[in-house]
Amino acid sequence: MADLAFDQLFAALAMQQLSIDDVAQLRYWIAGIDQGAQCRALIEEAAKGRPCPRCDCARVHRCGQASGLQRFRCLGCKRSYNALTGTPLARLRKREHWLAYFQCVLDSLVVRAAAAKVGVHRTTSFRWRHRFITAAARQRPSELGDIVEADETYLLVSQKGARTLNRPARRRGGVAHRRGISAEHDCLLVSRDRCGRTLDFHTGQGPVTAAQLDACLGKVLAPGATLFSDGAAAYRRFAGQHGIAHAWVNASAGEHARGDVHIQNVNGWHARFKGWLIHFRGVASKYLVHYSGWWRVLDENWLDTPTALLLAAARRN
Ligand SMILES: [Zn+2]
Repeated sequence: MADLAFDQLFAALAMQQLSIDDVAQLRYWIAGIDQGAQCRALIEEAAKGRPCPRCDCARVHRCGQASGLQRFRCLGCKRSYNALTGTPLARLRKREHWLAYFQCVLDSLVVRAAAAKVGVHRTTSFRWRHRFITAAARQRPSELGDIVEADETYLLVSQKGARTLNRPARRRGGVAHRRGISAEHDCLLVSRDRCGRTLDFHTGQGPVTAAQLDACLGKVLAPGATLFSDGAAAYRRFAGQHGIAHAWVNASAGEHARGDVHIQNVNGWHARFKGWLIHFRGVASKYLVHYSGWWRVLDENWLDTPTALLLAAARRN
């Protein structure tokens, strides 16, 4: 903008009697300009020196800008890309609102509240939330070591948000028809070592099986790790099949700890997760692992700023 035009505009603005709402709107608008540039700079900086996302070729050259990001052209596959190609944030728009939206993620806002706060439509808010959370929650420990606690928690299966239900509608916070754990329950398996490294898995419906434990934990238990669990047969079978050192508490007989042997760190995680879930008023089964991943990120507390979350989400895995 020419200086003169800006000066005139500024003079005109300065003569206005601005209401509190006007000032808030102006502040929000200016922050948007600032945050868009900040967001773009962070993304570009994080992607510096990355090879081509399609063929891993390091021979690339710059070729202009598109959608506000530097474009690169790969000399190997001849295709072009930008810093977000191959990341979960690719092709999402309105970058000027992303950092503000990540703050909403840190504040655990529901979709509607986040939409109102940031000034985007509810459907955008919904899409962003799931995309941003799953992107950030990819930061998972690759291994759990030494003493590793594992236990499941169960939540009633929910078709929240589905257009058609394959069962009669249930009132909010309903109860299962059958006693005990059944196909009416989603199983969330959580494993945590004594350093606090935590992994969460949605194993499906019904009680966890030895095969599911193998699929989830088989590759992440460090050599020499000792597994602590309750006395469920699935854990004993899984540990026996793999020769994993295993100790368990007899929870069904009321035993919570035997010296060092307990699963209270995992159970504490379950309790915090379920307490946090309450304000979402039920979560759809298909998104359960998004929420547990979200909670894991919040509970670990090392991605604790919008910038840290953005950088984690913009990584290429
Ligand atoms: Zn390439």
